[in-house]
Amino acid sequence: MAIKNAAMVGTPCQILAATKINEYDDKTGGSPIDLKIGLFCMENFSYHYLKEFLLNDNIELKNVKEFRIENNRFKVFLNNGDLKEYSIPETESFKRKNCDVCLDFASDVSDISVGSVGSPKGYSTLILRSKKGADIIKGLKEEGYIEVTDIDEKLFGLLEKIAGGKKSKNLANIKEKESIARPVLYNRDITNEELEDLTENADFDLLKSDVISIGNCVLCGACEFVCPENIVEINSRKPVKKGKCPEGCNLCYISCPRTWTSRDILSNTLVDEPIGEYLKICSAKSLKGKGQDGGVVTAILLYLLDKEIVDDVFIVGEDNENPWKPIPKLTNDRNEVLSAAGTKYSTVPIAFKALKNI
Ligand SMILES: Cc1cc2nc3c(=O)[nH]c(=O)nc-3n(C[C@H](O)[C@H](O)[C@H](O)COP(=O)(O)OP(=O)(O)OC[C@H]3O[C@@H](n4cnc5c(N)ncnc54)[C@H](O)[C@@H]3O)c2cc1C
Ligand code: SF4
Ligand code: SF4
Ligand code: SF4
Repeated sequence: MAIKNAAMVGTPCQILAATKINEYDDKTGGSPIDLKIGLFCMENFSYHYLKEFLLNDNIELKNVKEFRIENNRFKVFLNNGDLKEYSIPETESFKRKNCDVCLDFASDVSDISVGSVGSPKGYSTLILRSKKGADIIKGLKEEGYIEVTDIDEKLFGLLEKIAGGKKSKNLANIKEKESIARPVLYNRDITNEELEDLTENADFDLLKSDVISIGNCVLCGACEFVCPENIVEINSRKPVKKGKCPEGCNLCYISCPRTWTSRDILSNTLVDEPIGEYLKICSAKSLKGKGQDGGVVTAILLYLLDKEIVDDVFIVGEDNENPWKPIPKLTNDRNEVLSAAGTKYSTVPIAFKALKNI
């Protein structure tokens, strides 16, 4: 199946990986990802440990209707109408530790960012960053896919506070981590020329010591996707290499969102601007069905398919055998897009896994 272009939905780290693969396309060969819809993200969870934590509290995942992080609480809504709530510190046991060094809350390098913070309940906050993203949202509004309102000033202040808070807290974590382990590389300000020098002989073994072994791997699957030898396999815990790298290959290393990233991509706003650079910000709600918040991501994906702006979209569905286990999929089926609405709070080697399986 030849895919000309596709839209990707992902967490900020996954969006950064897609950006790197496309930006360094002279080496990586690029990807069909043509539009990046980034989600806001404070942290992510391990499916395995989340399941175990809930089981200890006598909750089986098959009995969970919805997960929601609200007012600093992790809320688990059950099918029988009950609600279980946990404080954020209680989620530490199933939180992925790599999220402690993440500086991006609002998907700063996407075309369109979407999240709940900044908008009233039932609405999504939309940050339009590229002209392409802004034109698509204009189309959705004009064609009656979404209703758009101005962002509330107070809620905007809260969004900046939360996004800035993540950056400063995790910058402190980075400093602490670097005092005992290797440097965290992705937020260093370097030029393309410096990137060339620093990554000249950077193969999977260096990726392993600079990222994977020190607990900074976000499990995005980019290394598996770009490997020309198909020797990287990503399981639910970490990427592993099953073969020998040809001399001079550094594709996994340069595509990884946790290695050096040149100034052309990050331009250092990651540290200075709480929600990154943007053209416009607003609140919106879908007129086409429900979602986790305003259902806007689902509305965007439906619009992109209906108007044939992309051939396929990435969605994160659920494994039939393991409730709430996220499964990435590439599709052009509207019903699949509608049924994938809602947030699955655990890590998934999303777009790249789906692309690899074509
Ligand atoms: C791990 C995680 C943490 C988040 N943390 C925050 C937060 O702290 N604050 C905040 O405001 N918002 C957060 N969000 C975003 C929020 O949960 C909603 O996804 C967002 O507001 C969009 O809502 P919607 O109703 O427009 O999306 P919907 O229309 O419900 O569509 C959601 C889309 O997200 C995709 N998706 C579901 N799970 C995943 C996943 N694990 N990885 C990638 N894609 C996925 C689905 O395929 C679907 O297309 C987080 C999202 C994730 C995945
Ligand atoms: S590293 Fe963690 S906190 Fe950062 S974007 Fe990825 S999942 Fe979210
Ligand atoms: S061949 Fe080796 S260095 Fe090249 S992408 Fe694959 S694992 Fe990485
Ligand atoms: S090591 Fe591979 S899976 Fe892990 S963050 Fe880097 S590219 Fe993604």
